[in-house]
Amino acid sequence: MSHTLPPLPYSYDALEPFIDAKTMEIHHDRHHQTYLTKFVEAISSVPQWAEKPVEEVLMHLDQIPESVRTAVKNHGGGYYHHSLFWPMMKKDGGGEPVGKIAKEITKQFGSFQVMKDSFEQACLSLFGSGWVWLTINAEGKLAITPSFNQDSPISNGLIPLLGNDVWEHAYYLKYQNRRAEYVENWWNVVNWEYVEERYQTVMTPK
Ligand code: MN
Repeated sequence: MSHTLPPLPYSYDALEPFIDAKTMEIHHDRHHQTYLTKFVEAISSVPQWAEKPVEEVLMHLDQIPESVRTAVKNHGGGYYHHSLFWPMMKKDGGGEPVGKIAKEITKQFGSFQVMKDSFEQACLSLFGSGWVWLTINAEGKLAITPSFNQDSPISNGLIPLLGNDVWEHAYYLKYQNRRAEYVENWWNVVNWEYVEERYQTVMTPK
């Protein structure tokens, strides 16, 4: 398994005006690339794990030697999360959830609006750097799950269906300190078809 930087599935300016081209370029080409480089550096000292998919590594952090565990958690998490993040957005995205996940959100949260409010609240109350996720557990239970830094919900048995990066590097150029405005605008680029695809993959019996 070679670890590679997935290309952005759209152009740098595809998410304008909500996320600016410069932010996308730096975020993908530099931040994501650096997480990947440093993850490969750390995991290559553990031959039995070096070739495994990053998801699997993050699901078994307790088996990674302590000397590199933090580096693997931080950079492996950053590598994995950004690979998920790009296809979770698209040009002309937004609107309401579609398909089975739409029904499930209504069933478990009461309405999309309730889920959205709670997701936004989690984005705003997360102190420092991190992510907020819509996750699903093995029993099919949905939850809003904040994670600090690059700690991954997958390390706690939760599968991310949708996530927003609330590190300042995700929005600072355009929004500066206005995280609330970024979070509000971000809904306009969410790729609900992709969230539905992820949900169906998770729910399909293996
Ligand atoms: Mn980021």
